[in-house]
Amino acid sequence: MAAAKTSETVKHITYLAGVLKAPRITEAAARLADQARDANWTHEDYLAAVLDREVAARNASGARLRIKAAGFPAVKTLEDFDFDAQPAVRNQITALSSGAFLTEARNIVLLGPPGTGKTHLATALGVAAAGHGHRGLFATATDWITRLTEAHHAGRLAAELAKLRRYGLIIVDEVGYLPFEQDAANLFFQLVSSRYEHASLVLTSNLPFSGWAGVFGDQVVAAAMIDRIVHHADVLTLKGASYRLRGRGIDSLPSIRTTTETEN
Ligand code: ADP
Ligand code: MG
Repeated sequence: MAAAKTSETVKHITYLAGVLKAPRITEAAARLADQARDANWTHEDYLAAVLDREVAARNASGARLRIKAAGFPAVKTLEDFDFDAQPAVRNQITALSSGAFLTEARNIVLLGPPGTGKTHLATALGVAAAGHGHRGLFATATDWITRLTEAHHAGRLAAELAKLRRYGLIIVDEVGYLPFEQDAANLFFQLVSSRYEHASLVLTSNLPFSGWAGVFGDQVVAAAMIDRIVHHADVLTLKGASYRLRGRGIDSLPSIRTTTETEN
């Protein structure tokens, strides 16, 4: 009789979990019921344990979707990063990984020569942010310019910038690999302005700030942009030889020397 009643209840739980669009509850409820009986849990403990499993699973699948939607070139995490290669930024990155910078709309700028882990860290911070429930979008500076130029030509730049502001995090990779035309520089300036004190930007560049005037073609635009970016920002400078070329007997590239010299 009791067994029949239990199986009726299990069926009913399956039905209710389906209605709640939480089918995992069925499995957790059955598995945890045995554990609860063995360990004499209270009803409240049992209910909390079942709901915990569902919430954890939802958060994980939400994070997975956000990571997929962000458009990272490759998924990289902070756990994959070898901080022994960049010991100077370990503490700063650890502090930033909590995602608190996003709620304060602070920016992060990662500077350094090629191969020192700028894209890796920008991605890893975006992945961590996705885990904390924040939506992000990753693209290179050139791709952002293409996107903004298209919006501008279609007469919907303001709408595009408003839409982007709904993303807590915009990652702009490779500022400075290609110089911008005047129009592109102005569009980029509008992106920076529209996010200023509203939502975060993570930027990477192989050039020190002193080289940005050359990228934006205009000292005044570059200065105004850097001013807004760094007003509330953490600036991290990565150093050394390319991680890609480690152990290959190639310890310097021409660009490494140039960048390091201008920086110091
Ligand atoms: P950058 O953007 O500065 O040119 P990347 O972030 O693309 O450099 O790094 C180049 C490659 O080396 C990537 O595959 C990255 O994952 C790896 N890498 C760089 N630095 C580290 C590091 N400190 N620990 C682990 N992998 C690293
Ligand atoms: Mg890179």
